[in-house]
Amino acid sequence: MEDGSCSALSVKAALEMIFEFDETGTISYANAEAEKKLEYKSGLCGHSIADVFPTEFKIEENAFTTEYPFDEKPRQFVAYRGNLTCFPVEAKIIKSGSTPEVYVCMANDMLEKEYLKREIAQVKQEAEHALKVKSEFVANVTHELRTPVNGVLGNVKELLDEDVDSRTMKSLRMIERCCVDMNKIIDNILDFSKLEAGKFTLEPRRFNVREMLDYVKGTHSAKITEKGLEFFMTVSPNVPEYVIGDELRIKQVLNNLLSNALKFTSVGKVTLEVLKTAQMNDRTELFFIVIDSGIGIDKADKDKLFQSFSQVDASISRRYGGTGLGLNISKQLVELMGGRIGVESQKGKGSTFSFSIWVGSCEEEKSAEQHTDTVNMSRYSSGVQAVSRQEDSEGGEVLKQFGTPQNREALKKALSKLILCVEMENWEKAEMFMDTIRQLTEGAPHEVGRVILRLKMAVQKENYDRITAGFEELKSFLQAEEVHA
Ligand code: ADP
Repeated sequence: MEDGSCSALSVKAALEMIFEFDETGTISYANAEAEKKLEYKSGLCGHSIADVFPTEFKIEENAFTTEYPFDEKPRQFVAYRGNLTCFPVEAKIIKSGSTPEVYVCMANDMLEKEYLKREIAQVKQEAEHALKVKSEFVANVTHELRTPVNGVLGNVKELLDEDVDSRTMKSLRMIERCCVDMNKIIDNILDFSKLEAGKFTLEPRRFNVREMLDYVKGTHSAKITEKGLEFFMTVSPNVPEYVIGDELRIKQVLNNLLSNALKFTSVGKVTLEVLKTAQMNDRTELFFIVIDSGIGIDKADKDKLFQSFSQVDASISRRYGGTGLGLNISKQLVELMGGRIGVESQKGKGSTFSFSIWVGSCEEEKSAEQHTDTVNMSRYSSGVQAVSRQEDSEGGEVLKQFGTPQNREALKKALSKLILCVEMENWEKAEMFMDTIRQLTEGAPHEVGRVILRLKMAVQKENYDRITAGFEELKSFLQAEEVHA
Protein backbone atom coordinates (compact mmCIF):
# COMPACT_ATOMS: atom_id res chain seq x y z
CA MET A 1 0.00 0.00 0.00
CA GLU A 2 2.86 2.37 0.61
CA ASP A 3 4.13 2.47 -2.96
CA GLY A 4 3.34 5.57 -5.01
CA SER A 5 1.16 3.79 -7.60
CA CYS A 6 -2.13 5.26 -8.72
CA SER A 7 -4.17 2.60 -6.93
CA ALA A 8 -2.22 3.21 -3.72
CA LEU A 9 -2.87 6.92 -4.09
CA SER A 10 -6.57 6.42 -4.64
CA VAL A 11 -6.82 4.15 -1.58
CA LYS A 12 -5.04 6.84 0.44
CA ALA A 13 -7.39 9.56 -0.75
CA ALA A 14 -10.58 7.44 -0.82
CA LEU A 15 -13.71 8.83 0.81
CA GLU A 16 -14.35 5.56 2.62
CA MET A 17 -12.30 4.17 5.50
CA ILE A 18 -9.85 1.51 4.35
CA PHE A 19 -7.44 -0.40 6.55
CA GLU A 20 -5.48 -3.65 6.55
CA PHE A 21 -4.84 -6.14 9.33
CA ASP A 22 -3.04 -9.46 9.62
CA GLU A 23 -3.84 -12.88 11.10
CA THR A 24 -3.04 -11.62 14.61
CA GLY A 25 -5.64 -8.86 14.09
CA THR A 26 -2.98 -6.11 14.13
CA ILE A 27 -3.69 -3.17 11.87
CA SER A 28 -0.75 -2.52 9.54
CA TYR A 29 -2.15 0.19 7.24
CA ALA A 30 -4.95 2.79 7.45
CA ASN A 31 -5.88 5.41 4.91
CA ALA A 32 -6.46 9.08 5.75
CA GLU A 33 -10.23 8.71 6.07
CA ALA A 34 -9.91 5.81 8.53
CA GLU A 35 -7.42 7.78 10.62
CA LYS A 36 -9.70 10.83 10.56
CA LYS A 37 -12.91 8.99 11.49
CA LEU A 38 -11.53 6.57 14.09
CA GLU A 39 -9.39 9.14 15.90
CA TYR A 40 -6.70 6.92 17.43
CA LYS A 41 -4.24 9.35 18.98
CA SER A 42 -1.05 7.54 17.96
CA GLY A 43 -2.60 6.34 14.66
CA LEU A 44 -4.49 3.13 13.85
CA CYS A 45 -1.41 1.07 12.95
CA GLY A 46 -0.43 -1.26 15.76
CA HIS A 47 -3.97 -1.31 17.17
CA SER A 48 -6.11 -4.42 16.92
CA ILE A 49 -9.17 -5.04 14.76
CA ALA A 50 -10.87 -5.99 18.04
CA ASP A 51 -10.34 -2.38 19.23
CA VAL A 52 -12.24 -1.06 16.23
CA PHE A 53 -14.93 -3.78 16.01
CA PRO A 54 -15.05 -5.30 19.55
CA THR A 55 -18.51 -6.80 18.97
CA GLU A 56 -17.34 -8.70 15.88
CA PHE A 57 -13.70 -9.62 16.61
CA LYS A 58 -11.96 -11.14 19.66
CA ILE A 59 -8.25 -11.82 20.15
CA GLU A 60 -7.32 -15.24 21.55
CA GLU A 61 -3.76 -16.57 21.72
CA ASN A 62 -2.29 -14.06 19.35
CA ALA A 63 -4.96 -14.63 16.63
CA PHE A 64 -8.38 -13.13 16.03
CA THR A 65 -11.68 -15.00 16.08
CA THR A 66 -14.84 -13.80 14.38
CA GLU A 67 -18.22 -14.93 13.10
CA TYR A 68 -17.81 -12.73 10.02
CA PRO A 69 -17.84 -15.05 6.97
CA PHE A 70 -15.59 -12.90 4.69
CA ASP A 71 -18.13 -13.31 1.89
CA GLU A 72 -17.61 -9.76 0.57
CA LYS A 73 -21.16 -8.78 1.54
CA PRO A 74 -21.40 -5.36 3.23
CA ARG A 75 -22.63 -5.66 6.83
CA GLN A 76 -23.53 -3.21 9.52
CA PHE A 77 -20.99 -3.03 12.36
CA VAL A 78 -20.41 -0.66 15.23
CA ALA A 79 -17.00 1.02 14.97
CA TYR A 80 -15.24 2.26 18.11
CA ARG A 81 -13.10 5.36 18.09
CA GLY A 82 -9.89 5.76 20.06
CA ASN A 83 -11.86 7.59 22.79
CA LEU A 84 -14.28 4.59 23.03
CA THR A 85 -17.25 6.42 21.53
CA CYS A 86 -18.87 4.55 18.65
CA PHE A 87 -20.82 4.99 15.41
CA PRO A 88 -22.51 2.65 12.92
CA VAL A 89 -20.69 1.69 9.73
CA GLU A 90 -21.40 -0.41 6.68
CA ALA A 91 -18.30 -2.55 6.25
CA LYS A 92 -16.92 -5.19 3.95
CA ILE A 93 -13.80 -7.21 4.81
CA ILE A 94 -11.96 -9.19 2.17
CA LYS A 95 -9.10 -11.67 2.36
CA SER A 96 -6.11 -11.17 0.10
CA GLY A 97 -5.57 -14.91 -0.39
CA SER A 98 -1.80 -14.53 0.11
CA THR A 99 0.44 -16.16 2.72
CA PRO A 100 0.55 -14.86 5.32
CA GLU A 101 -3.05 -13.76 4.96
CA VAL A 102 -3.87 -10.02 4.82
CA TYR A 103 -7.39 -8.67 5.45
CA VAL A 104 -8.69 -5.43 3.97
CA CYS A 105 -11.60 -3.63 5.58
CA MET A 106 -13.60 -0.98 3.72
CA ALA A 107 -16.18 0.90 5.73
CA ASN A 108 -18.59 3.80 5.30
CA ASP A 109 -19.88 6.04 8.04
CA MET A 110 -23.63 5.29 8.15
CA LEU A 111 -24.43 8.43 10.10
CA GLU A 112 -22.89 10.53 7.37
CA LYS A 113 -24.73 8.56 4.70
CA GLU A 114 -28.02 8.93 6.56
CA TYR A 115 -27.34 12.62 7.05
CA LEU A 116 -26.69 13.07 3.32
CA LYS A 117 -29.82 11.12 2.46
CA ARG A 118 -31.88 13.32 4.75
CA GLU A 119 -30.23 16.45 3.32
CA ILE A 120 -31.07 15.34 -0.25
CA ALA A 121 -34.68 14.54 0.71
CA GLN A 122 -34.98 17.94 2.37
CA VAL A 123 -33.49 19.81 -0.59
CA LYS A 124 -35.85 17.92 -2.91
CA GLN A 125 -38.83 18.76 -0.71
CA GLU A 126 -37.79 22.40 -0.54
CA ALA A 127 -37.37 22.55 -4.35
CA GLU A 128 -40.82 21.02 -4.85
CA HIS A 129 -42.32 23.42 -2.38
CA ALA A 130 -40.57 26.39 -4.04
CA LEU A 131 -41.89 25.29 -7.44
CA LYS A 132 -45.40 25.00 -6.01
CA VAL A 133 -45.18 28.40 -4.35
CA LYS A 134 -43.78 29.89 -7.54
CA SER A 135 -46.51 28.52 -9.75
CA GLU A 136 -49.19 29.59 -7.26
CA PHE A 137 -47.61 33.04 -7.15
CA VAL A 138 -47.50 33.24 -10.96
CA ALA A 139 -51.11 32.08 -11.17
CA ASN A 140 -52.20 34.73 -8.64
CA VAL A 141 -50.18 37.55 -10.16
CA THR A 142 -51.30 36.79 -13.70
CA HIS A 143 -54.89 36.62 -12.51
CA GLU A 144 -54.51 39.94 -10.70
CA LEU A 145 -52.93 41.46 -13.80
CA ARG A 146 -55.60 40.18 -16.11
CA THR A 147 -58.42 41.82 -14.15
CA PRO A 148 -57.24 45.45 -14.63
CA VAL A 149 -56.13 44.78 -18.21
CA ASN A 150 -59.57 43.43 -19.06
CA GLY A 151 -61.11 46.39 -17.24
CA VAL A 152 -59.17 48.81 -19.43
CA LEU A 153 -59.97 46.77 -22.53
CA GLY A 154 -63.71 46.74 -21.79
CA ASN A 155 -63.80 50.50 -21.28
CA VAL A 156 -61.76 51.15 -24.40
CA LYS A 157 -64.15 49.00 -26.43
CA GLU A 158 -67.09 51.01 -25.09
CA LEU A 159 -65.37 54.30 -25.97
CA LEU A 160 -64.58 52.97 -29.44
CA ASP A 161 -68.32 52.52 -30.02
CA GLU A 162 -68.88 56.19 -29.25
CA ASP A 163 -68.50 59.07 -31.61
CA VAL A 164 -64.90 60.15 -31.05
CA ASP A 165 -62.55 62.26 -33.15
CA SER A 166 -59.93 60.49 -35.24
CA ARG A 167 -56.99 61.35 -32.94
CA THR A 168 -58.77 59.90 -29.91
CA MET A 169 -59.82 56.91 -31.99
CA LYS A 170 -56.17 56.29 -32.91
CA SER A 171 -55.11 56.45 -29.27
CA LEU A 172 -57.95 54.16 -28.22
CA ARG A 173 -57.01 51.61 -30.88
CA MET A 174 -53.44 51.74 -29.62
CA ILE A 175 -54.59 51.13 -26.02
CA GLU A 176 -56.78 48.27 -27.25
CA ARG A 177 -53.83 46.69 -29.03
CA CYS A 178 -51.59 47.09 -25.99
CA CYS A 179 -54.21 45.38 -23.81
CA VAL A 180 -54.52 42.48 -26.26
CA ASP A 181 -50.71 42.12 -26.31
CA MET A 182 -50.59 42.28 -22.53
CA ASN A 183 -53.18 39.49 -22.31
CA LYS A 184 -51.06 37.39 -24.67
CA ILE A 185 -48.01 37.85 -22.46
CA ILE A 186 -50.05 36.94 -19.37
CA ASP A 187 -51.31 33.80 -21.13
CA ASN A 188 -47.76 32.84 -22.08
CA ILE A 189 -46.45 33.28 -18.54
CA LEU A 190 -49.32 31.22 -17.17
CA ASP A 191 -48.81 28.43 -19.72
CA PHE A 192 -45.09 28.41 -19.13
CA SER A 193 -45.49 28.13 -15.38
CA LYS A 194 -48.07 25.33 -15.70
CA LEU A 195 -45.88 23.42 -18.15
CA GLU A 196 -42.86 23.86 -15.90
CA ALA A 197 -44.78 22.56 -12.90
CA GLY A 198 -46.03 19.57 -14.93
CA LYS A 199 -49.62 20.70 -14.33
CA PHE A 200 -50.54 21.19 -17.93
CA THR A 201 -53.24 18.97 -19.40
CA LEU A 202 -54.35 18.75 -23.00
CA GLU A 203 -58.04 18.86 -23.86
CA PRO A 204 -58.53 16.77 -26.98
CA ARG A 205 -61.78 17.18 -28.91
CA ARG A 206 -62.92 16.43 -32.45
CA PHE A 207 -62.30 19.34 -34.81
CA ASN A 208 -62.09 20.17 -38.49
CA VAL A 209 -58.45 20.58 -39.52
CA ARG A 210 -59.02 22.81 -42.56
CA GLU A 211 -61.40 25.08 -40.67
CA MET A 212 -58.82 25.40 -37.91
CA LEU A 213 -56.14 26.28 -40.49
CA ASP A 214 -58.41 28.87 -42.15
CA TYR A 215 -59.02 30.42 -38.77
CA VAL A 216 -55.28 30.59 -38.08
CA LYS A 217 -54.71 32.13 -41.49
CA GLY A 218 -57.45 34.69 -40.82
CA THR A 219 -55.84 35.65 -37.51
CA HIS A 220 -52.74 36.78 -39.39
CA SER A 221 -54.31 38.25 -42.50
CA ALA A 222 -54.23 41.84 -41.21
CA LYS A 223 -50.51 41.58 -40.49
CA ILE A 224 -49.83 39.97 -43.88
CA THR A 225 -51.61 42.83 -45.65
CA GLU A 226 -50.04 45.46 -43.44
CA LYS A 227 -46.54 44.18 -44.24
CA GLY A 228 -47.30 43.55 -47.91
CA LEU A 229 -46.15 39.95 -47.70
CA GLU A 230 -47.29 36.97 -49.73
CA PHE A 231 -48.85 34.07 -47.88
CA PHE A 232 -49.31 30.52 -49.15
CA MET A 233 -50.99 27.62 -47.46
CA THR A 234 -50.86 24.04 -48.78
CA VAL A 235 -52.73 21.22 -47.14
CA SER A 236 -51.94 17.78 -48.46
CA PRO A 237 -55.12 16.05 -49.71
CA ASN A 238 -54.64 13.08 -47.39
CA VAL A 239 -54.82 15.27 -44.26
CA PRO A 240 -58.10 14.09 -42.65
CA GLU A 241 -61.07 16.44 -42.46
CA TYR A 242 -61.64 15.73 -38.78
CA VAL A 243 -59.22 14.63 -36.09
CA ILE A 244 -59.24 14.44 -32.32
CA GLY A 245 -56.72 16.74 -30.68
CA ASP A 246 -56.32 19.85 -28.59
CA GLU A 247 -57.27 22.36 -31.27
CA LEU A 248 -56.53 25.34 -29.06
CA ARG A 249 -52.98 24.23 -28.38
CA ILE A 250 -52.27 23.28 -32.00
CA LYS A 251 -53.49 26.76 -32.96
CA GLN A 252 -51.26 28.24 -30.26
CA VAL A 253 -48.12 26.59 -31.70
CA LEU A 254 -49.09 27.54 -35.26
CA ASN A 255 -49.90 31.10 -34.25
CA ASN A 256 -46.58 31.43 -32.50
CA LEU A 257 -44.60 30.15 -35.49
CA LEU A 258 -46.61 32.23 -37.95
CA SER A 259 -46.43 35.42 -35.90
CA ASN A 260 -42.66 34.95 -35.57
CA ALA A 261 -42.39 34.31 -39.32
CA LEU A 262 -44.35 37.50 -40.02
CA LYS A 263 -42.53 39.48 -37.34
CA PHE A 264 -39.09 38.63 -38.71
CA THR A 265 -39.94 38.96 -42.42
CA SER A 266 -40.15 42.34 -44.08
CA VAL A 267 -40.14 41.28 -47.74
CA GLY A 268 -41.08 38.10 -49.52
CA LYS A 269 -43.37 35.33 -48.42
CA VAL A 270 -44.49 33.08 -45.64
CA THR A 271 -45.69 29.56 -46.38
CA LEU A 272 -47.61 27.11 -44.25
CA GLU A 273 -47.65 23.46 -45.33
CA VAL A 274 -49.55 20.67 -43.64
CA LEU A 275 -48.99 16.99 -44.36
CA LYS A 276 -50.15 13.68 -42.97
CA THR A 277 -46.99 11.76 -42.27
CA ALA A 278 -48.00 8.56 -40.53
CA GLN A 279 -50.93 6.41 -39.48
CA MET A 280 -50.76 3.92 -36.62
CA ASN A 281 -54.02 2.22 -35.74
CA ASP A 282 -56.27 5.10 -34.77
CA ARG A 283 -53.47 7.67 -34.42
CA THR A 284 -52.49 10.04 -37.20
CA GLU A 285 -49.29 12.02 -37.39
CA LEU A 286 -49.57 15.53 -38.82
CA PHE A 287 -46.55 17.52 -39.94
CA PHE A 288 -46.62 21.34 -40.11
CA ILE A 289 -44.01 23.46 -41.89
CA VAL A 290 -43.76 27.25 -41.63
CA ILE A 291 -41.30 28.80 -44.08
CA ASP A 292 -40.37 32.47 -44.19
CA SER A 293 -37.98 34.61 -46.20
CA GLY A 294 -37.05 36.77 -43.21
CA ILE A 295 -33.92 37.67 -41.28
CA GLY A 296 -32.98 34.06 -40.53
CA ILE A 297 -31.06 32.74 -37.55
CA ASP A 298 -27.35 32.18 -37.10
CA LYS A 299 -26.27 28.53 -36.80
CA ALA A 300 -24.72 29.26 -33.41
CA ASP A 301 -28.00 30.68 -32.08
CA LYS A 302 -30.18 27.82 -33.24
CA ASP A 303 -29.68 25.74 -30.10
CA LYS A 304 -30.73 28.57 -27.81
CA LEU A 305 -34.02 29.08 -29.59
CA PHE A 306 -36.19 26.61 -27.74
CA GLN A 307 -34.91 27.52 -24.29
CA SER A 308 -37.10 29.69 -22.10
CA PHE A 309 -36.67 33.47 -22.15
CA SER A 310 -34.24 33.10 -25.03
CA GLN A 311 -33.98 35.63 -27.80
CA VAL A 312 -31.20 35.62 -30.31
CA ASP A 313 -29.79 38.89 -29.00
CA ALA A 314 -30.86 41.91 -27.02
CA SER A 315 -31.16 44.10 -30.10
CA ILE A 316 -33.82 41.71 -31.46
CA SER A 317 -35.99 42.08 -28.37
CA ARG A 318 -35.59 45.87 -28.52
CA ARG A 319 -36.51 45.99 -32.18
CA TYR A 320 -39.14 43.29 -32.47
CA GLY A 321 -40.36 42.85 -28.87
CA GLY A 322 -41.37 39.54 -27.33
CA THR A 323 -40.58 37.61 -24.17
CA GLY A 324 -38.64 34.70 -25.62
CA LEU A 325 -41.19 32.25 -24.20
CA GLY A 326 -43.13 31.40 -27.36
CA LEU A 327 -40.81 28.76 -28.80
CA ASN A 328 -40.18 27.11 -25.46
CA ILE A 329 -43.93 26.82 -24.85
CA SER A 330 -44.40 25.55 -28.41
CA LYS A 331 -41.72 22.90 -27.90
CA GLN A 332 -43.29 21.71 -24.65
CA LEU A 333 -46.77 21.64 -26.19
CA VAL A 334 -45.57 19.74 -29.26
CA GLU A 335 -43.82 17.21 -27.05
CA LEU A 336 -46.98 16.80 -24.96
CA MET A 337 -48.75 16.00 -28.23
CA GLY A 338 -46.18 13.28 -28.93
CA GLY A 339 -44.18 15.19 -31.54
CA ARG A 340 -41.03 17.18 -32.11
CA ILE A 341 -40.21 20.66 -33.26
CA GLY A 342 -37.17 21.74 -35.28
CA VAL A 343 -35.74 24.61 -37.27
CA GLU A 344 -33.59 25.05 -40.29
CA SER A 345 -32.38 28.52 -41.05
CA GLN A 346 -29.77 30.62 -42.76
CA LYS A 347 -28.91 34.10 -41.58
CA GLY A 348 -30.37 36.66 -43.97
CA LYS A 349 -32.17 34.06 -46.07
CA GLY A 350 -35.09 32.92 -43.96
CA SER A 351 -36.16 30.17 -41.60
CA THR A 352 -38.15 26.97 -41.76
CA PHE A 353 -39.77 25.81 -38.56
CA SER A 354 -41.56 22.49 -38.54
CA PHE A 355 -43.26 20.28 -36.01
CA SER A 356 -45.09 16.99 -35.89
CA ILE A 357 -47.92 15.94 -33.58
CA TRP A 358 -50.04 12.84 -33.10
CA VAL A 359 -53.82 13.20 -33.19
CA GLY A 360 -56.64 10.70 -32.88
CA SER A 361 -58.60 9.58 -35.94
CA CYS A 362 -62.36 10.04 -36.05
CA GLU A 363 -64.67 7.11 -36.77
CA GLU A 364 -66.16 8.65 -39.94
CA GLU A 365 -62.65 9.47 -41.22
CA LYS A 366 -61.55 5.91 -40.67
CA SER A 367 -64.38 4.45 -42.74
CA ALA A 368 -63.93 7.09 -45.45
CA GLU A 369 -60.25 6.25 -45.59
CA GLN A 370 -60.97 2.58 -45.92
CA HIS A 371 -63.13 3.29 -48.98
CA THR A 372 -60.85 5.68 -50.77
CA ASP A 373 -57.47 4.30 -49.84
CA THR A 374 -57.45 0.61 -49.18
CA VAL A 375 -53.71 0.48 -49.73
CA ASN A 376 -53.36 3.13 -47.04
CA MET A 377 -49.91 4.46 -47.69
CA SER A 378 -49.68 5.12 -44.06
CA ARG A 379 -46.21 6.54 -43.74
CA TYR A 380 -44.57 9.69 -44.87
CA SER A 381 -44.59 8.64 -48.49
CA SER A 382 -48.33 9.21 -48.43
CA GLY A 383 -47.70 12.84 -47.55
CA VAL A 384 -45.09 13.24 -50.22
CA GLN A 385 -47.13 11.54 -52.87
CA ALA A 386 -50.14 13.58 -52.00
CA VAL A 387 -48.16 16.75 -52.47
CA SER A 388 -46.62 15.62 -55.72
CA ARG A 389 -49.97 14.45 -56.99
CA GLN A 390 -51.28 17.91 -56.28
CA GLU A 391 -48.32 19.47 -57.99
CA ASP A 392 -48.61 17.02 -60.85
CA SER A 393 -52.06 18.32 -61.58
CA GLU A 394 -50.69 21.84 -61.61
CA GLY A 395 -47.45 21.18 -63.38
CA GLY A 396 -48.32 18.09 -65.42
CA GLU A 397 -45.74 15.54 -66.40
CA VAL A 398 -42.94 18.12 -66.52
CA LEU A 399 -42.51 17.78 -62.77
CA LYS A 400 -40.63 14.52 -63.15
CA GLN A 401 -38.38 15.83 -65.89
CA PHE A 402 -35.08 16.77 -64.33
CA GLY A 403 -33.92 20.36 -64.90
CA THR A 404 -37.30 21.97 -65.57
CA PRO A 405 -38.24 24.91 -63.30
CA GLN A 406 -41.04 22.83 -61.74
CA ASN A 407 -38.67 19.98 -61.11
CA ARG A 408 -36.14 22.34 -59.54
CA GLU A 409 -38.82 23.83 -57.30
CA ALA A 410 -40.04 20.38 -56.21
CA LEU A 411 -36.46 19.26 -55.65
CA LYS A 412 -35.72 22.28 -53.48
CA LYS A 413 -38.83 21.57 -51.43
CA ALA A 414 -37.96 17.92 -50.99
CA LEU A 415 -34.42 18.83 -50.02
CA SER A 416 -35.51 21.30 -47.38
CA LYS A 417 -37.96 18.74 -45.99
CA LEU A 418 -35.19 16.17 -45.93
CA ILE A 419 -32.93 18.45 -43.96
CA LEU A 420 -35.76 19.28 -41.56
CA CYS A 421 -36.34 15.61 -40.85
CA VAL A 422 -32.61 15.21 -40.33
CA GLU A 423 -32.62 18.15 -37.90
CA MET A 424 -35.47 16.48 -36.07
CA GLU A 425 -33.66 13.14 -36.20
CA ASN A 426 -36.65 11.59 -37.88
CA TRP A 427 -34.65 9.15 -39.97
CA GLU A 428 -37.58 7.18 -41.24
CA LYS A 429 -39.08 10.24 -42.88
CA ALA A 430 -35.68 11.45 -44.02
CA GLU A 431 -35.30 8.22 -46.00
CA MET A 432 -38.68 8.71 -47.59
CA PHE A 433 -37.80 12.25 -48.66
CA MET A 434 -34.55 10.86 -49.95
CA ASP A 435 -36.58 8.51 -52.17
CA THR A 436 -38.55 11.48 -53.49
CA ILE A 437 -35.29 13.32 -54.23
CA ARG A 438 -33.96 10.27 -56.04
CA GLN A 439 -37.12 10.09 -58.16
CA LEU A 440 -36.94 13.79 -58.94
CA THR A 441 -33.31 13.49 -60.05
CA GLU A 442 -33.87 10.58 -62.43
CA GLY A 443 -32.13 11.31 -65.69
CA ALA A 444 -29.84 13.89 -64.09
CA PRO A 445 -26.18 14.20 -65.18
CA HIS A 446 -23.64 11.84 -63.65
CA GLU A 447 -22.19 14.35 -61.21
CA VAL A 448 -25.65 14.89 -59.71
CA GLY A 449 -26.20 11.15 -59.62
CA ARG A 450 -23.01 10.73 -57.64
CA VAL A 451 -24.03 13.40 -55.09
CA ILE A 452 -27.45 11.76 -54.76
CA LEU A 453 -25.82 8.40 -54.12
CA ARG A 454 -23.55 9.89 -51.44
CA LEU A 455 -26.50 11.70 -49.89
CA LYS A 456 -28.59 8.54 -49.86
CA MET A 457 -25.81 6.59 -48.14
CA ALA A 458 -25.32 9.40 -45.62
CA VAL A 459 -29.06 9.36 -44.82
CA GLN A 460 -29.00 5.59 -44.42
CA LYS A 461 -26.02 5.90 -42.08
CA GLU A 462 -27.64 8.85 -40.28
CA ASN A 463 -24.45 10.84 -40.79
CA TYR A 464 -25.41 14.45 -40.15
CA ASP A 465 -22.19 16.05 -41.49
CA ARG A 466 -22.23 14.12 -44.74
CA ILE A 467 -25.91 14.88 -45.25
CA THR A 468 -25.36 18.62 -44.83
CA ALA A 469 -22.35 18.43 -47.16
CA GLY A 470 -24.44 16.59 -49.80
CA PHE A 471 -27.29 19.02 -49.28
CA GLU A 472 -25.00 22.02 -49.88
CA GLU A 473 -23.45 20.36 -52.94
CA LEU A 474 -26.83 19.66 -54.45
CA LYS A 475 -28.10 23.14 -53.62
CA SER A 476 -25.17 24.81 -55.33
CA PHE A 477 -25.69 22.55 -58.32
CA LEU A 478 -29.34 23.59 -58.48
CA GLN A 479 -28.37 27.26 -58.20
CA ALA A 480 -25.89 26.89 -61.05
CA GLU A 481 -28.57 25.17 -63.13
CA GLU A 482 -30.97 28.00 -62.36
CA VAL A 483 -28.47 30.62 -63.54
CA HIS A 484 -27.86 28.54 -66.63
CA ALA A 485 -31.55 28.35 -67.40
P1 ADP B 1 -40.61 35.91 -28.76
O1 ADP B 1 -41.91 35.95 -28.06
O2 ADP B 1 -39.58 36.80 -28.13
O3 ADP B 1 -40.68 36.04 -30.24
P2 ADP B 1 -39.94 33.15 -29.27
O4 ADP B 1 -39.58 32.08 -28.31
O5 ADP B 1 -41.16 32.94 -30.10
O6 ADP B 1 -40.05 34.47 -28.41
O7 ADP B 1 -38.70 33.42 -30.21
C1 ADP B 1 -37.43 33.55 -29.63
C2 ADP B 1 -36.46 34.18 -30.58
O8 ADP B 1 -36.20 33.33 -31.69
C3 ADP B 1 -36.92 35.48 -31.20
O9 ADP B 1 -36.74 36.57 -30.37
C4 ADP B 1 -36.02 35.53 -32.44
O10 ADP B 1 -34.76 35.98 -32.05
C5 ADP B 1 -35.89 34.07 -32.84
N1 ADP B 1 -36.88 33.69 -33.90
C6 ADP B 1 -38.02 32.99 -33.75
N2 ADP B 1 -38.64 32.81 -34.92
C7 ADP B 1 -37.88 33.40 -35.85
C8 ADP B 1 -37.98 33.56 -37.28
N3 ADP B 1 -39.01 33.04 -37.97
N4 ADP B 1 -36.99 34.24 -37.91
C9 ADP B 1 -35.95 34.75 -37.21
N5 ADP B 1 -35.79 34.63 -35.87
C10 ADP B 1 -36.74 33.97 -35.20
